[in-house]
Amino acid sequence: MEITKKVKIGVSACVIGEKVRFDSGHKMNRFVANEIKEYFDYVPVCPEVGIGLSVPRPTIRLMYDEERIALVETKDASRDYTDKMHAFSDAKVDELMGEQLCGYVVCAKSPTCGMERVKVYKKGHADTNGVGLYTKTLMEKMPWLPVEEDGRLQDPILKENFITRAFCLHDFYQSMEGGVTAGKIVAFHSRYKLTLMAHRTESYRELGRLVANVSKYSIEEFFTLYRQGLMDALKNRADRKNNTNVLMHIQGYFKKYLDKDQKAELSEIILQYREGVLPLLAPLTLLKHYLNQYPDEYLSQQQFFAPYPQELRLRYGL
Ligand code: SF4
Repeated sequence: MEITKKVKIGVSACVIGEKVRFDSGHKMNRFVANEIKEYFDYVPVCPEVGIGLSVPRPTIRLMYDEERIALVETKDASRDYTDKMHAFSDAKVDELMGEQLCGYVVCAKSPTCGMERVKVYKKGHADTNGVGLYTKTLMEKMPWLPVEEDGRLQDPILKENFITRAFCLHDFYQSMEGGVTAGKIVAFHSRYKLTLMAHRTESYRELGRLVANVSKYSIEEFFTLYRQGLMDALKNRADRKNNTNVLMHIQGYFKKYLDKDQKAELSEIILQYREGVLPLLAPLTLLKHYLNQYPDEYLSQQQFFAPYPQELRLRYGL
């Protein structure tokens, strides 16, 4: 994929180091703020500042009241920001819909920005099943958007998965530049076949059926359905079993060119990847070498070989 623009993602402002937290601090995540910034264009949002709260400010939390989950001050529950936060979230997310965001990194545990397991208080005890009010609206209005928490990005698998999804959505939007057409979506789909196979074989088949029936939908409907199906599919981790199937599938393309020893070596490397002895990069490097030697148009356009810039070094641990 040729990256002609940075990938635009939303981010909780404190995660890229803005001092907007209740205690005038930040919660800078080095991976987001430094390591990947060359490739990403950030749209920082602090919803609490957005509703007019000061820095510093009293802490707030989620609390069950009679019929809803409310956002109130920890020390004075009569100071209720629920309606203000809902109104801000609706308006802000509507505005962001026009930005073609390709992902969003939110700050974990926050009653405003947390994506999951946020504490919700009720009479002295807390359930940890809440979602921050702003992020809830974000995920409801943009269900296709890759959303991840700062803390979860420490996990190499979750990190790689989030970056894969963000680059894929970026590629999708770039591929539609100049206007969406069925032909452009079909061409895009063709480049992502092996990626889809690696993430979820059933989705690969489902999206294949959707693409085959393109004429049954309006282009807007088709675009929306395809984007949702694509992002849902990639949420599934590309595990060793599925990756092995894809590697073996690619291996099949070189059958007629390789001699007995080369075939045995390639099979052994794929097997060692399958067993966790070698990282994914080992068989991929050898397959790329054979692809250079024996070019194949279909294979060389597959994003599976390079879902994001290799300089991000995210496949080393996979
Ligand atoms: S978690 Fe969200 S609301 Fe809290 S400081 Fe960070 S950006 Fe602002």
